[in-house]
Amino acid sequence: MRKLLVVIGLFFTIVLSGQDVYLHCGSIIDVVSGKKLAEKTIVVSGNKIKSIQSGYISGSDIDEVIDLKTKTVLPGLIDMHVHMESEFNPQSYIKRFTNNEADVAFESALNAKKTLMAGFTTVRDLGGSGVNIALRNAINRGVVDGPRIFTSGKSLATTGGHADPTNGMKKDLMGDPGPKEGVVNSPEDAKKAVRQRYKNGADLIKITATGGVMSVAKSGHNPQFTLEEIKAVTSTAKNYGFTVAAHAHGDEGMKLAVLGGVNTIEHGSFMSEETMDLMIEHNCYLIPTISAGRQVAEKAKVPGFFPPVVARKALEIGPIHQATMAKAYKKGVPMGFGTDAGVFPHGTNAIEFGYLLESGIPLKESLKMATLINATLLEMEKELGQLKEGFLADIIAVEDNPLENASTLENVVFVMKEGKVYKNL
Ligand SMILES: [Zn+2]
Repeated sequence: MRKLLVVIGLFFTIVLSGQDVYLHCGSIIDVVSGKKLAEKTIVVSGNKIKSIQSGYISGSDIDEVIDLKTKTVLPGLIDMHVHMESEFNPQSYIKRFTNNEADVAFESALNAKKTLMAGFTTVRDLGGSGVNIALRNAINRGVVDGPRIFTSGKSLATTGGHADPTNGMKKDLMGDPGPKEGVVNSPEDAKKAVRQRYKNGADLIKITATGGVMSVAKSGHNPQFTLEEIKAVTSTAKNYGFTVAAHAHGDEGMKLAVLGGVNTIEHGSFMSEETMDLMIEHNCYLIPTISAGRQVAEKAKVPGFFPPVVARKALEIGPIHQATMAKAYKKGVPMGFGTDAGVFPHGTNAIEFGYLLESGIPLKESLKMATLINATLLEMEKELGQLKEGFLADIIAVEDNPLENASTLENVVFVMKEGKVYKNL
């Protein structure tokens, strides 16, 4: 009887006070100062960081201790540009005709898991068919393991533009998609399309302000939205609490997007100095995606990997992209961290750190971009992006010092999201 009471007592102690987790960290990265701090204990209670203390401390008997004494611990990484629904391969264009939504859903669940296991605990999904919204919900419900997702649902395009879902199809399959499907051709259409995304459950809006590389269409950089259409998107988005991300390679369409009030420019490949100044003036953030640029340019050399129209654009835009990012950083353009994963394999997002370093962006800065700055762009800066008391317990660990060794970030050995351990090698 007494034993039973002890067990019951212990049960209530655990339920009432909760079991805390003590992470003994060899060192932790303070992304604000860009410094590595040795020998810390992070106390996690429920889904939050309860405290961070110097040295290795332990709680009561019921608390758990996780030994990360030989590791460097940092906040969960955030990628501002992924496509969870797909991972590109030469069959991708055919899959549009053969895959049902359920097929897309199973693949996206796998992509989500790969992303989380790579230490990316939060992502911004910038376009798919709408399965990405269901994926976000499934992850939030704990049905699927994956990062926290902020998604645009289906991107907005203009007729024949990048993200018109019927590009390259034969005429009787093309139809005439409209705002509901994310294709707009006037400010009125633009308003309706934004409202439709709200109805569908999106978290933000993505527009394709210029041509793109992966679409079966001639130009990779022509302007595709008018200033009036962009303004209709951004002003309507504001009413629904949405931010607006604009895909843009060409300078002219990019300039219109900045003037039209978008929050981020994705890619930015042919950004002129004038547009860089505009970005600074409007506090518009550039999201480089060097990983995608480099890898599509590489794959374009493999015969048959891309349709010829895509291969040509990949070879043209890929190489220039990285050089522009280096210039923009030097000039002081505000930058976040993104990759365009899905265009290349999910779970390899961290190779971007090495490419940014090659472009003259120190690891201290790119780590800040992938945590603190991205959290701010997601309006989550009071909960995400730092190891800090009261913040959500999104915590990862690597073997080496990520302020000096970019590739260690490609080998994440510990992943916790909201207090739950998903990986501990
Ligand atoms: Zn993209």
